[in-house]
Amino acid sequence: MKLIIQIPCYNEAETLEIALNDLPKKIDGIDKIEYMIINDGSTDDTVKVAAAWGVNHIVSFTRNKGLAKAFMAGIEAGLSYGADIIVNTDADNQYCGEDIEKLVKPILEGRADIVIGERPIDDTPHFSWLKKKLQHFGSWVVRKASKTGIPDAPSGFRAFSREAAMHINVVNEYTYTLETIVQAGRNKMAITSVPIRTNPELRKSRLFGSMGGYVKRSMLTILRALLMYRSLAVLSILGSIPFLIGFGIGINFLTYYFKHQASGHIQSLILACTLMIIGFVTIVIGMLGDVLSANRKLIEDVQYHVRKLTYDESDAEVWKEAGSLKIPECISREDSDYADDE
Ligand code: UDP
Ligand code: MG
Repeated sequence: MKLIIQIPCYNEAETLEIALNDLPKKIDGIDKIEYMIINDGSTDDTVKVAAAWGVNHIVSFTRNKGLAKAFMAGIEAGLSYGADIIVNTDADNQYCGEDIEKLVKPILEGRADIVIGERPIDDTPHFSWLKKKLQHFGSWVVRKASKTGIPDAPSGFRAFSREAAMHINVVNEYTYTLETIVQAGRNKMAITSVPIRTNPELRKSRLFGSMGGYVKRSMLTILRALLMYRSLAVLSILGSIPFLIGFGIGINFLTYYFKHQASGHIQSLILACTLMIIGFVTIVIGMLGDVLSANRKLIEDVQYHVRKLTYDESDAEVWKEAGSLKIPECISREDSDYADDE
């Protein structure tokens, strides 16, 4: 059982060593622990610090691409290095390294595929009142969208089984945290949460420069995830509001019409029609979104199988032996069939 601990890093030369020193060297049930950093285009000595410390793997971007891309690069690299479990943590020593043991336990016991570390948000002194409320609100929306019971959705302290890592994909450019949970819930993966401890703040958040920016980005991320995974439900609710108002105004107009008092009320007829059309089109867009999400599911399935074939050599071997992977032979057989027909 091999565990790879990955740390996305953007200019973390100052705190990385502290975070690395905090990581566990041994965990019951794990045969080997490897350490990996994803250098997200750092311009400081992050890579030097990591190499001097002796991390096993360094994945490097030549420019800053954002946490979501760095996280996914780590997942892909972890799979290729043969990880059975991948744990993600922060380079600012935000999360308590000792608690990685708690994170991997449900996976080792076969109870979960994804484990999210639940931070003690309300007891974190450096989180402002607004940030605490927003984190709770974000988690609540993610729980609704994903139909899971995850209490701390924006937490970056997580463990993934190899199987779960094969399924992950992130479209959002900014953060992977919310989308991966919605996806896991939708794909009926076994996702759970364990309480973990955090350390005092060593530096300000790199992701959330200002509270205004944080609110805007979180809202957009959640809205996007909702539209992507629950488009029909969301747009049906949004569309039914103007539709029903328009319908009510239309009924009102009809009562005047049948009482032969319609003249002077044409404006309400126009308003009723406009609102009903807006509502109807919104619901139809929701239906289109639903059809697109079915397509996305198929693409996700293909991506999963490509990853399996790419990263699980043993799987590819089994397939070959079972005769399921005979694409070139099939083609040549068909060619010869045609030749026979001629
Ligand atoms: N990070 C990254 N690329 C970025 C921004 C951040 O790889 O463009 C890394 C950063 O080095 C850290 C992790 O993502 O290890 C989380 O960032 P941060 O701690 O600032 O976010 P927070 O914990 O406040 O959400
Ligand atoms: Mg952090």
